[in-house]
Amino acid sequence: MDEQRGLTVTYSESRARFLGAAADAGASVASHEHPAHGPAGETLALDVAEVGPDDAVSVLLIVSGTHGVEGFTGSALQHHWLAHHRDDRPAGVRVVLLHAFNPYGFSWVRRVNEDNVDLNRNFIDWSEPPPANEDYGGIAHLLVPDEWDDDTQQSTTMALLAYAEQVGFERLQEVVSGGQYTHPTGVFYGGSAPVWSHRWLDEHVDELVGAAERVAVVDLHTGLGPWGHGELISHEGRGAAGYDRGTAWWGDVRSMLDGESVSANLSGDWLGALDRLIPCAEVTAVALEFGTVDTVSVLQALRADAFLHSSGDPLGAGADAVRTQVRAAFADDDPAWFDAVAERFDEVVDAALAGLAVG
Ligand SMILES: [Zn+2]
Repeated sequence: MDEQRGLTVTYSESRARFLGAAADAGASVASHEHPAHGPAGETLALDVAEVGPDDAVSVLLIVSGTHGVEGFTGSALQHHWLAHHRDDRPAGVRVVLLHAFNPYGFSWVRRVNEDNVDLNRNFIDWSEPPPANEDYGGIAHLLVPDEWDDDTQQSTTMALLAYAEQVGFERLQEVVSGGQYTHPTGVFYGGSAPVWSHRWLDEHVDELVGAAERVAVVDLHTGLGPWGHGELISHEGRGAAGYDRGTAWWGDVRSMLDGESVSANLSGDWLGALDRLIPCAEVTAVALEFGTVDTVSVLQALRADAFLHSSGDPLGAGADAVRTQVRAAFADDDPAWFDAVAERFDEVVDAALAGLAVG
């Protein structure tokens, strides 16, 4: 019986539990402090725990909290691996756990970072103009209105549903969540330059993967798809080496490029930058996306959060209610949900380790 199993209530608890399990596992740990603080003044950090040989030819990197609040689940799964599966690792493979890639969003119970930026829309090529998403501008005032009372919530939601009716729900999802670079207080904003966590990865990626020739990455997400289901999502399309290798390892991998995934095709995801960041390694990377609640509830939570941080008071009365709403959209405290999620996670990790060990 593991009384620590499942999701914690705060980032600090998740972090402490992760570091404790890493110490128990004899992992080597490096903590990189983030300049911001959490709502209770707590320290924020990117923590890296590594198990296995330093000179391993193969590395499995498991990442939590790219989308802040989604780290409640990612951290619980990393803890689950350290507590129960660290000995399942093939001798020649190093497993690297990056805890809280976006620690600010994790602690503030937000999907975005300290700049209201979606870290997974920030890894575009900044030497070029950002991708255009012109239709976002037409609904920006509906997504994040200037007021967020019962009336404005109702009228803007009706208007968005009417828009969905007109263009189709898939197109709405693409416009809303594909990434936008024009509305800094909006949703799914990709930023105006590389953000702190992006710059951190640029600097530290070599420490994470060392001289590995083969690198597998599992980036843990929540909030899309059926309850408890774990979809593997590739940023690549059919025929790309990483996608084909991933399909051989895991079976069903959905390409967001080819429109197979619960995710819209998006710009600036960090897995898509790995071939540039570690050009000498053979990279097999997927997002593992676990379903929570329905898409409309998720979007309502993100709109409430965006309003709170653009026009409201994130430490004022009512802020905790928004954080509760956001956490409920991206994390489920039902033990049956975590059981389903952990079982799927184990399956994905086992297949990645087997694929890496064979080469
Ligand atoms: Zn996510």
